[in-house]
Amino acid sequence: MTTDFLSLNLRSELTQAITELGYLEPTPIQAGMIPLMLTGVDVIGQAQTGTGKTAAFSLPILNNFQKQKNPQALVLAPTRELALQVADSMTEYGKHLHVRVLAVYGGQPYGPQINNLKRGVDIVVGTPGRLNDLLERGVLILKDIKTVVLDEADEMLNMGFVEEVEKILATTPAERQTALFSATMPQRIRKL
Ligand code: AMP
Repeated sequence: MTTDFLSLNLRSELTQAITELGYLEPTPIQAGMIPLMLTGVDVIGQAQTGTGKTAAFSLPILNNFQKQKNPQALVLAPTRELALQVADSMTEYGKHLHVRVLAVYGGQPYGPQINNLKRGVDIVVGTPGRLNDLLERGVLILKDIKTVVLDEADEMLNMGFVEEVEKILATTPAERQTALFSATMPQRIRKL
């Protein structure tokens, strides 16, 4: 590993996972975003898929990981494919921390998702519609969320998810950290 990843001062469980994945140095968005997010501030990133944006927001979230009862991080994604991909990556980056990551999305039965939530989940990654359904069923508890990520925010806007996203955000603590990623930055996204 180059000093670059080491200089990010991530916990050893994370540098170990990164090393095992063969990552040699942070991508530009990772080098820019990780130190910022680690300070706890809100961030906006203009990034396409393939830039390493998933690790850019996942590693700071995982670095803050501590055992607690309710989910501590929430990632909103426009599609089930992205939700699954992000959840897989976070599970991989967080494997030495034994983080429990759950992807929730529509078109799947509620039972297993609800059972998982009841058993305990540290990080929830989901599409807005299903997240709202689970909120309404009272099984998704967002009161202890420390970080929210809006991934591909412009896509969520294009798909008409803005109101759903705002409803979900309203149930998370006001003092949470928010990270927003978008390939484009229209006015509506800036407002969000
Ligand atoms: P993403 O933009 O998050 O979808 O990531 C694109 C691809 O780059 C994924 O296959 C990652 O595993 C890989 N990747 C992310 N960060 C790095 C890195 N620092 N070095 C090498 N590959 C990376």
